[in-house]
Amino acid sequence: MSELQPPVLSTCPECGGHSLYQTTGRAGTPHANLLLPGLGSFLTYAEVQIRVCADCGLIRYYAAPAALAKLRTSPRWQPL
Ligand SMILES: [Zn+2]
Repeated sequence: MSELQPPVLSTCPECGGHSLYQTTGRAGTPHANLLLPGLGSFLTYAEVQIRVCADCGLIRYYAAPAALAKLRTSPRWQPL
């Protein structure tokens, strides 16, 4: 997995707790949870960093830079 650079927040935005954990993963599987359609590579789902608050359970996902680089030009995504 490549290095990810999401914002560094040491406090949970939901409960104010400080028990945050993180890992990296893929934004989908062949069977479920395709979070970033069109932003991965051929046969590879986009990479995300996942952060979880151990106090309240809030889960946050951050798209990897490679996925963000494709976002503005992807036909699957429209700006709000
Ligand atoms: Zn929390």
